[in-house]
Amino acid sequence: MLLEIKNLYVKYGNIEALHGISFHVNQGEIVTLIGSNGAGKTTTLHTITRVPPPEGPKVFQGDILYKGESLLNMEAHMIVQTCKIALAPEGRHIFGNLTVEENLKLATFARKDHDKVSKDYKRVYDLFPRMAERRNQRSESLSGGEQQMLAVGRALMTGCNFILLDEPSMGLAPLLMYEMFRTLKKLNEEGMTILLIEQNARLALKFAHRAYVLDTGEIVMEGPAQELADNPEVQKAYLG
Ligand code: ATP
Repeated sequence: MLLEIKNLYVKYGNIEALHGISFHVNQGEIVTLIGSNGAGKTTTLHTITRVPPPEGPKVFQGDILYKGESLLNMEAHMIVQTCKIALAPEGRHIFGNLTVEENLKLATFARKDHDKVSKDYKRVYDLFPRMAERRNQRSESLSGGEQQMLAVGRALMTGCNFILLDEPSMGLAPLLMYEMFRTLKKLNEEGMTILLIEQNARLALKFAHRAYVLDTGEIVMEGPAQELADNPEVQKAYLG
């Protein structure tokens, strides 16, 4: 087990957002959390990557274990550097006034494996040729879908082998959406572990190995992704 979330309670100020959730991610898996707006999906990712309060959620009970060790007292930058977990936020959170390449470079600042960094640039540009074409363009002038690619690219440039993806399909036209998911599948086949949250539950369940359904801060269902996709309750509530 790579990541284990144990009975986690989280709040923003006095408002409780997660009420004792438990789930895990095994090495090499693609796991997805699906759920409606406000269910707590982004909160879960921000808790794991330790986005600090006041914007970030505060854990008041439970634990987050990475290879059996608690992450609760670790700061966000240490999570990336030592645990190799990177967050690819929604595309609009990239640095708009920097170019594509500058955004990618920023993610490498703490890396000492310089040979691998050059290979990772190549990998990102191979995976997302559009980023190679736009490498000197300011990121704010990228389309929504291109910003999404950049957010994923930036997570890859950290050198992490576990990525948390926040709505990678957001703003992508259907064709690009499938392309993005094919790219993610390829990364997974090369050894990347992925925890994915998605509004597009149908797509996420098609692509993930296992899934959890989050409903107002609680996990209400879990299982192999295909099984959940075939479940009439899930179909009615989340697959429209
Ligand atoms: P969506 O799919 O709409 O992005 P989500 O499942 O990702 O939803 P979260 O963004 O995690 O849901 O929100 C869970 C709850 O926590 C919501 O009630 C939300 O209003 C609240 N919340 C999220 N971020 C903050 C914050 N920074 N401060 C206060 N409350 C927050």
